[in-house]
Amino acid sequence: TFSAEGFFMKIAMIGTGYVGLVSGVCFSDFGHNVVCVDQDPRKIEMLNAGEVPIYEPGLDALMAKNVEAGRLSFTTDLNEGIKDAEAVFIAVGTPTRRGDGHADLTFVYAAAQDIATALVAAGNPYTVIVTKSTVPVGTNRQVKQVVRKAAPDLQFDVASNPEFLREGAAIEDFMKPDRVVVGVQNDRAAEVMQEIYRPLFLRDFPIITTDLESAEMIKYAANAFLATKITFINEIAALCEKTGADIKNVSKGMGLDNRIGNKFLHAGPGYGGSCFPKDTSALARIGQEHAVPMQITEAVIRVNDGVKARMIEKLRDLCEGSFNGKTIAVLGVTFKPNTDDMRDAPSLTIVPALVGGGAKVRVVDPQGAREGEHLLPGVQWHDDPYKAAQKADALIILTEWNEFRALDLKKLARKMASPRMADLRNIYSAKDAKRSGFEAYVSVGREDMF
Ligand code: NAD
Repeated sequence: TFSAEGFFMKIAMIGTGYVGLVSGVCFSDFGHNVVCVDQDPRKIEMLNAGEVPIYEPGLDALMAKNVEAGRLSFTTDLNEGIKDAEAVFIAVGTPTRRGDGHADLTFVYAAAQDIATALVAAGNPYTVIVTKSTVPVGTNRQVKQVVRKAAPDLQFDVASNPEFLREGAAIEDFMKPDRVVVGVQNDRAAEVMQEIYRPLFLRDFPIITTDLESAEMIKYAANAFLATKITFINEIAALCEKTGADIKNVSKGMGLDNRIGNKFLHAGPGYGGSCFPKDTSALARIGQEHAVPMQITEAVIRVNDGVKARMIEKLRDLCEGSFNGKTIAVLGVTFKPNTDDMRDAPSLTIVPALVGGGAKVRVVDPQGAREGEHLLPGVQWHDDPYKAAQKADALIILTEWNEFRALDLKKLARKMASPRMADLRNIYSAKDAKRSGFEAYVSVGREDMF
């Protein structure tokens, strides 16, 4: 919590998804007065009832505290939301456009258009329209055009403020960021952005101010780099399996080099989630449009698809060549722990391959069922890993939730019809598995099948 000193702003946040809601709640905790606007009446209804529509650790308490303090409210009515706002943030989705891999900017431009009309109607003297959504280079200039066209006399500036929070640790990331990136075209907009982030600035978190295009590029370059790092270690893992090296040792030995760093060096079933797949694909597309192909990013996308395919073959081997008629327990389907987000999760490729191959699939996930029930047809949902393992032919660990890190492997093995495990997050070891009575154990990047 930040002290109640200083100058507080009135902010409107458009879109209450993972980014919009977290940002809105955190800005209100800075002391600003925040109205969150979403066009989805169900979300706003829930929020007004004090419920959080997504799973994000700590968000409910922080939200309740700031609603209580009268600094945070929710509405579907944009006109009401932007009244007197000095800054309006666009935090709507920018999914992949069907067909060409480009970021779909329909929601961003629609929001910009509506904001322009609402600002004119409200008579706000001057507003900064800030894009927090991840958008291709050049989009903020386009937003400016859209607003200018809809409201020729409006006093406004645009700013780019990409978000780097991680789902599952979103509040911590927002409150203690490695950096805040702000792209602007003039000092007036820069000053408004500095006021908004002043509590972070006072605590020495770096805030870098750039032109619009650099800010937009930083976000894509950062995400593509992280996706590359993961994919690099996944490719090394494949080679480890053939050569007898152990990826855990390799990652550790590499990561202790400060120039490399130990983050994002965990081998697994391929990256997924709401950002890396769509952002790498959008960056590749931006490169093609400018005749500067992003060859490394394009290779990363291809290799990552290959990683998932390789996992399916690994699982087929574990099931002695066929999924048909097998009962398989899958632990974890969200793209990572501590979120309910299922967007582009590796499970969405792997589980359908099991079901399609004729397996009876049981799924356990602490938060994944709400989304997963629509996305993974033909599976049975269980609350308890041990019940899911009852008479199963194979057990697959897909997401490293804490709940799955300290399982009683002996008890699991005893319950299974044939105790076989695929540990695609390398939580356990062949030694643990063997000692506990497993007949077979496979993981990623380690020559440990027995
Ligand atoms: P999301 O799909 O969870 O939320 C988007 C919200 O915007 C939805 O609630 C939707 O109803 C609402 N919306 C859409 N159009 C609207 C409009 N015109 N008016 C009001 N509300 C509207 O998306 P998200 O995961 O929060 O992502 C938002 C943006 O942030 C994306 O560009 C994403 O790339 C970026 N981002 C996401 C993450 C992440 O971890 N999820 C991290 C960094 C950046």
